[in-house]
Amino acid sequence: MEEATAITGKLNIAKYRVFTLRGALQLEMKGMHRRGQSAYAIIKEEFGFKGSKQKVLTQLNALIKDDARLTALLTDDEEPLSNCCTAPFGYPGWPDNDICSACGEHADASEDD
Ligand SMILES: [Zn+2]
Repeated sequence: MEEATAITGKLNIAKYRVFTLRGALQLEMKGMHRRGQSAYAIIKEEFGFKGSKQKVLTQLNALIKDDARLTALLTDDEEPLSNCCTAPFGYPGWPDNDICSACGEHADASEDD
């Protein structure tokens, strides 16, 4: 079950990133800033949270506690399918790999979202 392992690994990385963002947000609340976009801005954008840093942290903590919801959110990205056969793309997936897994031809992602 190589594929399932890959998905679990991807999810663990995504969760680890959420924890890292929470840590960065907590540092920002203490006045420590890193380069680039703030964790506050990233978290608000990715999870659709609104309000002050404290409010965003509270919402993020609630999400982290609710593992099923967090997992659902992090695995929500639907795999794009090819526009020729409506099949998945080969590893590592669109747009890094534009070979349709069904016909083996270069393809675009279908846009019937
Ligand atoms: Zn195809």
